[in-house]
Amino acid sequence: MTIAARATGLSKHYGSGSAEVVALDGVDFEIVSGEFTAIMGPSGSGKSTLMHLLAALDSPTSGKVFIGDTDVASLKDTPLTELRRDRIGFIFQAFNLVPTLSAKENIVLPLAIAGKKVDQEWFDRIVDVLGLRNRLSHKPSELSGGQQQRVACARALMNRPDIVFGDEPTGNLDSVSAAEVLTFLRRSVDEFGQTVVMVTHDALSASYADRQVFLSDGRIIKELRNASQDELLSTMAHIYPRHDQQAGVEADDAPNTSNEHPVVIDSDEKSGAGQGTDVVATHIEWLHDKDSEEVICRDGGGAPAPEHLDEDAEPVVEQTIPRRAIAG
Ligand code: ADP
Ligand code: MG
Repeated sequence: MTIAARATGLSKHYGSGSAEVVALDGVDFEIVSGEFTAIMGPSGSGKSTLMHLLAALDSPTSGKVFIGDTDVASLKDTPLTELRRDRIGFIFQAFNLVPTLSAKENIVLPLAIAGKKVDQEWFDRIVDVLGLRNRLSHKPSELSGGQQQRVACARALMNRPDIVFGDEPTGNLDSVSAAEVLTFLRRSVDEFGQTVVMVTHDALSASYADRQVFLSDGRIIKELRNASQDELLSTMAHIYPRHDQQAGVEADDAPNTSNEHPVVIDSDEKSGAGQGTDVVATHIEWLHDKDSEEVICRDGGGAPAPEHLDEDAEPVVEQTIPRRAIAG
């Protein structure tokens, strides 16, 4: 087993004083080469922060990131730029293609910038797997969202990076286009031995991965391997409790405690009071041990930090998850 990237004691704080936000809180984490890893968690849990640090796009407040054996913090500007360019590929939610360039020019842009020759065989293989052969001369504005993201996938893989990172790469896509991109990422792992790390809050997307890592409040609180969409949905319902008590929870098989924190997932706007009642995913047994201030999750799964039990906090579970589950 080769480690493609590693984080040790990784923390990131934004702001200071009363405005300080702990986006990442002492994370230890390894990315295994040739695996497809999904980083999951509700909005604000630190997914993007973790990914940006692992991808050497940002520097931590404390802790270290290694890409392979390279301590990212030890690199000066030029080698850091080269590391990002040569060893890492990115796929962003918003595609980030250069609008004035054709699909082909976008795909080979990182190589052109690096002054490297295009490996024609590799280019052809990627373009064909992605079904972009007939789109190569088109500008991004002449392509659908799905096609643009496939161009971005090709661009990310062109220089055979050690790791491809995607931050919600299917977040702007319809379900068919999303499946195409996810299938490609899966194939790139299975057929090309690519290492892929994808941030997503979506169970269906994460089910394409080999490994699913759950963040909450800047900490890794659980991991699964080869989890199905259903398993991921029920795990999310267990580990991301809803903070407001009002929406549609029956008390019949809830634990006999005044501190249970059942999980209900809103169907629509986070502020949409009462809308959760028709899409209750599950309700979950949370026990709050008053003496120890410890949260115990009955199924033995990872429990989030006690501060999750702040009843005044906003609900944090994002909406696409239950929708998919219901539509399922
Ligand atoms: P996610 O990707 O899971 O939605 P992020 O990593 O973007 O979460 O953010 C984690 C936390 O850090 C959030 O509370 C967010 O508001 C905060 N945060 C992220 N980036 C910044 C920033 N540049 N300045 C201040 N706070 C930030
Ligand atoms: Mg994010």
